[in-house]
Amino acid sequence: MIRVHLRSRFGRRLFLSFLLASLLPILALAAFAYHEMQKQLVDSVQRGLREDSKNFGMEIVSELGWRIELMRNAEAANAFKRLSGFTWMGLADDAEAPLASRQELDALAQHGAALRLAGGAPPLLMARSGDGFKTIVGRLDPGVLWQREVVNMPYCIFDLQHAPLYCTEGLRPPRRAADEARHRMMAVDVAGERFLGTFWEGRLDGLFGQGGFVVFMTAPEAMLSAPLTRLRLGFAAMIVLAIALAVGLSANQIRRQTAPLDALTGGVRRLARGDLDALVDVPGDDEFAMLGGTFNAMSGRLRSKFRMLGLMAELDQAVLASAERGRITRTILDRVLDAIPCDGAGVLTLRPDGTVDYLRASGPGEKSDLPHRVPAEVVDRMRQQSGRDWVEVDDDLDSRLCGEVPQPGRRALVFPVWTHNRVEGGLLLALRAGAETDDEVVSSGRALADRMSVADSSIAWEARLYRQSHYDALTGLPNRMLLRDRVERACARARRDGLCAALLLIDFDDFKSINEALGYQAGDQFLVEAARRIEGLARPNDTVARLTADEFVLVVPDVKPAEWMSLVHALAERLTAALAEPVVLDGQEVVSAASTGIAVCPDNAEDFDGLLKLSDLALQEAKRSGRGSVHFYAQSMNRVVSERFELSQALRRAIQNDELLLHYQPKVDAVDERIVGAEALVRWRSPSRGLVSPGVFLPLIGEMGLDGWLADFVIDRACAQMKAWDARGLPAVPVSVNIDPAELAAPDFCERVLSALARYDLPCERLELEILESAEVGEGSAVRDALTRLRARKVRIALDDFGTGYSSLVYLTELPADVLKLDRAFIRTMVGDVRQQSIVEQVIALARSLDFKVVAEGVEESAQHALLRRMGCDQIQGFLFSKPLPAEEFAEKLSGDVQRAAAGVAGSAV
Ligand code: C2E
Ligand code: CA
Ligand code: CA
Repeated sequence: MIRVHLRSRFGRRLFLSFLLASLLPILALAAFAYHEMQKQLVDSVQRGLREDSKNFGMEIVSELGWRIELMRNAEAANAFKRLSGFTWMGLADDAEAPLASRQELDALAQHGAALRLAGGAPPLLMARSGDGFKTIVGRLDPGVLWQREVVNMPYCIFDLQHAPLYCTEGLRPPRRAADEARHRMMAVDVAGERFLGTFWEGRLDGLFGQGGFVVFMTAPEAMLSAPLTRLRLGFAAMIVLAIALAVGLSANQIRRQTAPLDALTGGVRRLARGDLDALVDVPGDDEFAMLGGTFNAMSGRLRSKFRMLGLMAELDQAVLASAERGRITRTILDRVLDAIPCDGAGVLTLRPDGTVDYLRASGPGEKSDLPHRVPAEVVDRMRQQSGRDWVEVDDDLDSRLCGEVPQPGRRALVFPVWTHNRVEGGLLLALRAGAETDDEVVSSGRALADRMSVADSSIAWEARLYRQSHYDALTGLPNRMLLRDRVERACARARRDGLCAALLLIDFDDFKSINEALGYQAGDQFLVEAARRIEGLARPNDTVARLTADEFVLVVPDVKPAEWMSLVHALAERLTAALAEPVVLDGQEVVSAASTGIAVCPDNAEDFDGLLKLSDLALQEAKRSGRGSVHFYAQSMNRVVSERFELSQALRRAIQNDELLLHYQPKVDAVDERIVGAEALVRWRSPSRGLVSPGVFLPLIGEMGLDGWLADFVIDRACAQMKAWDARGLPAVPVSVNIDPAELAAPDFCERVLSALARYDLPCERLELEILESAEVGEGSAVRDALTRLRARKVRIALDDFGTGYSSLVYLTELPADVLKLDRAFIRTMVGDVRQQSIVEQVIALARSLDFKVVAEGVEESAQHALLRRMGCDQIQGFLFSKPLPAEEFAEKLSGDVQRAAAGVAGSAV
């Protein structure tokens, strides 16, 4: 663990200082203690030695005293010989006796004794005899004198001039330096063992008035070194313990110090790497924790600063790209909480109706708030308070505007957004209780509000520019530029979705003359009116544009390929009609006409330029064919259109001239082949075109909105015909008429049918209505209601073209109908197709079980008839028996039938 911390330089330094801090005093203390201890020991050894020396000296003194006594006694007894301890004894005047020095004579005179100690010679003791007249001299045996029992350590004796007198065995007399400190001890070797010794001077003044000797007393060095060694060992143990303690403690401390430091360093590194979210977690309440807190605050500020810069850059970009105000507001709302250190924020937006909305900024992960309406009184209050600059409001406006309970102490800074010298909104920053209103928050808030102002003005400017560059100033219609855009989009959609987009180029045939005759102002008025009329006819998704002076374009996008031609043609016709209506200019009625050229995308061209070019060609063509013409770019289209147009004109005339009539196709009993009914089918006998089949003109009837008329016409004619046949005594067979399902939904349809029957006094059972199987007859539909009501009056209902729609057989069980007409498609493929046969058989069986009468349509072969008869089909209709016939021919067929029957009956009677 300690290794981890020592990796940090700080950790190492800390560890070292810990070690030094703990070791230095210990070492100093150890050194001091050692030194003191050593001094003490030396002192005590010295004291001991001195004590020993003193004792030794006293012994010597008393020995010498005793020796003097012995010498005096020996003189008195005159027995000098054989006295132990003396090598010789005699009187001073003996020839063998050495001469006494002056000093010795003085000592003898004063103290009665003298001692001569000289190196190399045995000690010489002199004493006055008991009577005081003689001087006794004794030469002492140095071994006896100096060898003392009280001392068992090696020692040496010197005279006062330091000449050696005696040394115990093995000890060489140490040389004493002149200034040798008396306290210092000398180390000497005695038979390989080390001893420490010290000198001591023993004075013999008491005995002799002068003289003395020096003792060098020793003690084994071990006396000193053993305790010192023990001391050293003790210190060593102590130091080891101290180091161990220091290491342990410092490791712990280092860990506690470096962990937050590591966290901080890590945070700073991450911050340096640009990670603005670098936060550190330093627990505790010490300086490190404070530092951590400060670091977090600092990185938070830095983060805010950067985010603020980022936000500003983004806003600038958005402003440059002339983004809408909504996007700028959204950007601010999404990011402001990150960029400004505040507790909440929101944007106040002035709406076109004068009310103000408050949109609150959402933090990351929160879902964005809906706008809150700002109460008028709050708006007023803010308006009063706000000068050009920001205001601080001592109220939790943020919560209040969002309908929440205001938090005590929370307050708001409001920065107004000025556009064209009007407050158009504002930015609100919420500060939590106790937070300071610091400069950074204020300057950031101001900067954002400024950006919003700039965005607003630039948007307004852009909008004006956009209008100017995309719309025509006179009529307010899109101009060529916007038109191009719309057409390109429409073409792209057309290509993608398989649709069509048509471009109608409209040009007035005589606009120039209006301008010349009535002046430009009237001309302008005319154009505005024309624009209004064209717009009036356009569908919501169409585009009306003004191209040049009197050229307009109508774009019809997103139409199905099958429909576009009739739709666009009808529109062009209506346009022509609308533009041909007189315009009142300056109280004068002016009649003009416009020609139209049409091109379609993608059939004719795939882009704006192509379409415009081709529609212009078509327009030239239209102009050539006369005032108020419409021309398609492609010839084939023009032919179709013109035929259609002619046909519809002709049909209109045909209706007026009563050229429509009914043919009747017999239905025969499947078994005995007698005529049991007829289907009325409409025909147009045109003087120029001959007999026109309904397939050709029925769609036109629909387009002309004459469906209702046709239904009434057919019902009336069929009823009238039945009445006429009845009058001729022909069999009263029912006639069926085809009714467009849409007609059935007309609210008065029932009444119209019943009144027709009543008009010709026919029972309701004579009329049968054929409606397509595909008709919407769901529960509750108008068609179903009508069918139910008609059936209640006994008008019969037939389901036409059964099998082509998608009705399931189950659907049959709840259908308000009486007859099922099997479609021709079933019958045509039946012979030779066993599966088809079985289907038809099933259908017939089911229909019969549900009480439907079954009619097979389009029977052309006897094989089909044979099969159907076997399957139980009730009636047969088809070319095998008869084509649809004019009323007269049908009547003949009917009467022929009657005659045949009569003959048959007569025959059988025969
Ligand atoms: P639809 O109701 O299915 O009429 C039967 C059509 O089949 C008739 O054509 C008829 O001439 C034809 N047809 C009959 N038997 C045969 C046959 O054996 N072989 C072939 N190939 N065709 C046969 P038409 O008269 O041309 O009528 C066509 C459609 O026009 C009718 O189909 C009907 O839906 C509609 N229609 C006719 N008259 C009227 C009318 O007065 N009002 C309404 N709303 N629609 C009518
Ligand atoms: Ca029919
Ligand atoms: Ca049919």
